[in-house]
Amino acid sequence: MKQNESPADRAFRAEVRDWLQTNLSGEFAHARGLGGPGREHEAFEERLAWERHMAAAGWTCVGWPAEYGGRGATVEQQVIFHEEYALADGPARVNHIGENLLGPTIIAFGTDEQRARFLPPIVAVEELWCQGYSEPGAGSDLANVQTRAELSGDHWTVNGQKVWTSLALEAAWCFVVCRTEPGSSRHRGLSYLLVPMRQDGVDIRPIVQLTGTSEFNEVFFDGARTDAGNIVGAPGEGWKIAMATLGFERGVATLGQQVGFAREFQGVADLARRTGAIDDPLLRDRLTRSYMGLEIMRLNAVRTMAGVAAGAPGPESSISKLVWGTWHRELGELAMDVLGAAGLVADGEPCNLNDWQRLFLFSRSDTIYAGSNEIQRNIIAERVLGLPREARG
Ligand SMILES: Cc1cc2nc3c(=O)[nH]c(=O)nc-3n(C[C@H](O)[C@H](O)[C@H](O)COP(=O)(O)OP(=O)(O)OC[C@H]3O[C@@H](n4cnc5c(N)ncnc54)[C@H](O)[C@@H]3O)c2cc1C
Repeated sequence: MKQNESPADRAFRAEVRDWLQTNLSGEFAHARGLGGPGREHEAFEERLAWERHMAAAGWTCVGWPAEYGGRGATVEQQVIFHEEYALADGPARVNHIGENLLGPTIIAFGTDEQRARFLPPIVAVEELWCQGYSEPGAGSDLANVQTRAELSGDHWTVNGQKVWTSLALEAAWCFVVCRTEPGSSRHRGLSYLLVPMRQDGVDIRPIVQLTGTSEFNEVFFDGARTDAGNIVGAPGEGWKIAMATLGFERGVATLGQQVGFAREFQGVADLARRTGAIDDPLLRDRLTRSYMGLEIMRLNAVRTMAGVAAGAPGPESSISKLVWGTWHRELGELAMDVLGAAGLVADGEPCNLNDWQRLFLFSRSDTIYAGSNEIQRNIIAERVLGLPREARG
């Protein structure tokens, strides 16, 4: 808790803490600490039930305006909420993509009808979402999207393939970047469609990851349909909307993560004390640097959130993404070095990993998803610093 916290914020903190203490008990007590990167398979149904319980008490989407079902929490209060949630060891949230990516996008760019249709089930955790951007030939080069959609009468028909689609199996809906103007190329002619996942035209195939689990999937659209009105922005405006969603993903959405990172760091420091690795001056130096990185990251996150409070997040949100992605990957490497030779051996089956092994393996992806480090550097160079654009082939 900060020394200079206002009385209102102190009261908010007490309210969050009390509620979590009272409610993360009984049937939900065992959900504490479950889930998270590389452990997304853990107790999914229990975490879903917990999040619906939070929703019923008004503790989801706390940063959204009250008129859309949120609490209109200030930036400071959102920080407090995430701090207290992590301190209470709350289970990893299942509705992250809806609450932090699609919801803010619809609030900013959707129609009144879309807000009325899609926001309440996100607040209530009744409909989960997934993000249909990447394709086999369109990752960093997202403008190369080939999935196409055609409007006929009252519906769009979608054909194409997405890949690396996180939580597609659990999601009821997907926001899909697709080409709606035949013959268009690059950023032009794209649209942002909202497509139901549970229909015959959608085939989902899980991909096994390094950790042995399958958070992400291939998704094939083969004549999938969605209503004509399920388009955010006008036809052809998909690039603009897709970039706004990425701004939310790279910025404010990571706030909860920052607090989790602090706990992970504490875990690695405790491990170093237990194993005696803390006596190694090189490891001690790396732990100190990691702690400093954590503080820098926290300040960056707060700055990003202040930017969001002042309007839509700008390209500066790439700084946060670059900083936390790199920091977390290095923490995974540090954890393995603190473990030493023991880190090389799995507890049982090939993927029966301990927390530190899982952290190491999963955090390799932190510098890739939501845009790789190289892409964040390009954005910072070109759009924040105004440096010359990279040569395009
Ligand atoms: C855990 C995880 C979850 C994900 N979840 C989702 C999801 O839910 N939905 C979704 O749509 N996608 C998701 N992704 C995909 C992710 O967005 C892409 O992996 C990412 O954008 C990179 O694209 P790519 O994998 O095609 O790599 P590529 O674009 O092929 O890049 C390969 C390498 O080349 C580098 N590179 C590429 N272009 C440039 C350039 N211009 N300058 C310098 N270097 C360059 C990259 O940095 C990278 O190192 C997820 C990925 C991961 C790892």
